[in-house]
Amino acid sequence: PLILGIESSCDETGVALVRGNDLLIDAVASSVDEHARFGGIIPEVASRAHLEAMVPTIERAIAGAGVTLAEVDAIAVTAGPGLVGPLTVGASAAKALAVALGKPLYGVNHVVGHAAVDQLVHGEFPERFMALVVSGGHSSLLLVDDIATKVDELGSTLDDAAGEAFDKVGRLLGLPYPGGPHVDCLAREGDPLAIRFPRGLTASKDQAKHMYDFSFSGLKTAVARWVEAHADAGKPIPAADVAASFAFAVADVLTAKTIAACKRNDVSTLVVGGGFSANSQLRELAAARCAEAGITLRIPPIRFCTDNGAMIAALGSAVVRAGVAPSSLDIPVDSSMPLTTITV
Ligand code: ATP
Ligand code: MG
Ligand code: FE
Repeated sequence: PLILGIESSCDETGVALVRGNDLLIDAVASSVDEHARFGGIIPEVASRAHLEAMVPTIERAIAGAGVTLAEVDAIAVTAGPGLVGPLTVGASAAKALAVALGKPLYGVNHVVGHAAVDQLVHGEFPERFMALVVSGGHSSLLLVDDIATKVDELGSTLDDAAGEAFDKVGRLLGLPYPGGPHVDCLAREGDPLAIRFPRGLTASKDQAKHMYDFSFSGLKTAVARWVEAHADAGKPIPAADVAASFAFAVADVLTAKTIAACKRNDVSTLVVGGGFSANSQLRELAAARCAEAGITLRIPPIRFCTDNGAMIAALGSAVVRAGVAPSSLDIPVDSSMPLTTITV
């Protein structure tokens, strides 16, 4: 079946067409430049941008794939989590298409989509695998039995997401918005062992209750204090070393906990997804530590890590193949949709 996927949970309007695990086209319009002016995302600004971009992006996807709308067998759309206004724009467009074409509609989970997209790149998933989804809004460890029907959340961040922490440290170091990629860049020129920043929730007292949870807000505060103390003492800030040491602390705790979870649950495949999986420090450390542990690491190329329509079409395709019942036409968008809810 040919699946049309629509993503609009944050600042990217994405529309893609997928057949099985084959991607026909992935069209994305981003409003990130508009948000850069405000140093963050204003939901109303994002909603309006989705409203303007939605129809042209759907048209671009259909034309680019060389298919007609009538050939589409099902529509998949992000039902959450995300910003309510932007989600509603996507859900309304999807509903209109489903009604007009007389095709089934599937509301799917954005965060699960960040993992699902890897099937388009590296092929069908194994029976059971671990997924680390790290983005601007989430840092979660998922044990996946079936991407279309059964996902367990082993742990998640108790405060900031990894990407969010990078964005905050970027602001602290005076880098442009969003700071994540800039901190990554700067970190490549620094010494990751220059400063020993704390690893949240790794103390033995946290092991029982928060074995697979993350916490990055203490780390971000530690970076802020370190920079402040240096400035107060009139010393120059070694920004590259700060960035590298911070980035290493994040990658260290993410990979250590994830690999421990793989071993304990006896899974030998790890999928990493979400906007933050573009991060080069995480990619390098995950590759090294997975190789050492005999774990197969699957990370999609960067264009599939940030928000896109392909991830939603990929999950929609898996859901349709699994025979899951379609959603009601009134997709209940849910800004804080639990990660264990794959379809609504
Ligand atoms: P969610 O998927 O949880 O709803 P989101 O959609 O806002 O959140 P994504 O678009 O998946 O998040 O990811 C964006 C985040 O990833 C931003 O915080 C951005 O700074 C961060 N990011 C992107 N590239 C890098 C990088 N190379 N290094 C560090 N952070 C990065
Ligand atoms: Mg985004
Ligand atoms: Fe996302």
